[in-house]
Amino acid sequence: MNTIVYLETKEGKPLGGSLELLTPAAALGTVTAVVAGVSPEVAQEAAGYGAPVLLLEGELGCDDALVAALEQVIREKHPDLVLFAATQTGKDLAPRLAQRFGSGCVTDATAVEGDETHKVVFTRPAYGGTILEKLALTGEGPMFANVRTGSYSRPQTGAAAPVETMAAAVAEDAVRAKLVETVTEITELVNLEGADVIVAGGRGMVDAEGFKLVEELAQVLGGVVGASRPAIEAGWVSRAHQIGQSGKIVAPTLYIACGISGAMQHISGALGSKYIVAINKDEDASIFDVADVGIVGDVKEILPLMIQEIRKKNG
Ligand SMILES: Cc1cc2nc3c(=O)[nH]c(=O)nc-3n(C[C@H](O)[C@H](O)[C@H](O)COP(=O)(O)OP(=O)(O)OC[C@H]3O[C@@H](n4cnc5c(N)ncnc54)[C@H](O)[C@@H]3O)c2cc1C
Repeated sequence: MNTIVYLETKEGKPLGGSLELLTPAAALGTVTAVVAGVSPEVAQEAAGYGAPVLLLEGELGCDDALVAALEQVIREKHPDLVLFAATQTGKDLAPRLAQRFGSGCVTDATAVEGDETHKVVFTRPAYGGTILEKLALTGEGPMFANVRTGSYSRPQTGAAAPVETMAAAVAEDAVRAKLVETVTEITELVNLEGADVIVAGGRGMVDAEGFKLVEELAQVLGGVVGASRPAIEAGWVSRAHQIGQSGKIVAPTLYIACGISGAMQHISGALGSKYIVAINKDEDASIFDVADVGIVGDVKEILPLMIQEIRKKNG
């Protein structure tokens, strides 16, 4: 199995969510990591993860140009599988390329595994994460897939794989939509997707005053504040903090859910977390089914104790 992993970049660096894809790709066979819009030094750094890197050079600042350049790479390299992170850009590129090769495309996969019958089987949560479906692609062309961030750990760095450069030949008429301007909204500054620690609060925080405990705990832990939808609808915190089916998909090392029942529409956005700690006064709350550590009790008593103890530890 020959796989191409597209390393999506932001501000000149590969995104963690695309570096992770080198792990399932390496388990399937040989890998080439393709990156565009970075310096040769950054490409060399990416090669440290063990896969040879193909650095695309040229005016590739918009998705139309990237589709054309990646099509060229795929026609030259003949991969069996092409993987993208399940980001907005990845979800734009993968199906467009699949269409050009007459291939199938799986979006939002959480696992990519070798299979004797189908070559590759993809796992994807459906119905808000209440079931996991297994998908296989048929046809002769390369398979395309988007994989959710947090589904895999990125490989160890320290290798010295080669870096090859390729001038991308993008025809002028290939670009029909140009990126004119990028406006960074203040709400986008909430980096839940990249957070290592998230403290999330739900309806159980009762009011805006109660929600401040969530913010305080996040602050002492050096984490980011997350929230369930009712906390946002109540106006305790902005929509940029929402986690779940209609919010953000997160994968921190530590996820602390405070006064959150664990509805699938919420927790499906946090199942990639390494450790889930849940605090809820209802011992039958479904959040305890997915929690690694469960604390049954009142958030207004437990959170101040946690904040106090962590402050002591922090000195
Ligand atoms: C199409 C669709 C999309 C949705 N998308 C999302 C989404 O993206 N994100 C999202 O979060 N929701 C989403 N929802 C809503 C979701 O179904 C739930 O209603 C929501 O997640 C519940 O939030 P909650 O756990 O904060 O509130 P509740 O379900 O009301 O739970 C509150 C919990 O707090 C506990 N509690 C109360 N007081 C205390 C206390 N003093 N101490 C400790 N515990 C206490 C209670 O026992 C309870 O378990 C969506 C719904 C739909 C239909």
